[in-house]
Amino acid sequence: MKFGKDSLRQLVKILVQVVNFMPLSKCELCSSQPLREVAISRWINDPSDVERLTIEICAKHYQRLNKSGTKGVKQRGYYYRIGFWS
Ligand SMILES: [Zn+2]
Repeated sequence: MKFGKDSLRQLVKILVQVVNFMPLSKCELCSSQPLREVAISRWINDPSDVERLTIEICAKHYQRLNKSGTKGVKQRGYYYRIGFWS
């Protein structure tokens, strides 16, 4: 199959449509664009009773979590800290 200019243009059009349909990922703690996926521990009251999960997180929140260390950062009723260790 040979691609002429027109079929290329058609292909680009289709690709743009596909990209527009894909849900934009967001930071788990706000609506910013996420920087990376991180493994975190999350708890409500008891830091020894944690839930371990991976979330997408923005640069700002990544820094905030990094700084807070094991104390964690409180956000939307949960405490978050980086890593699965206790
Ligand atoms: Zn964020």
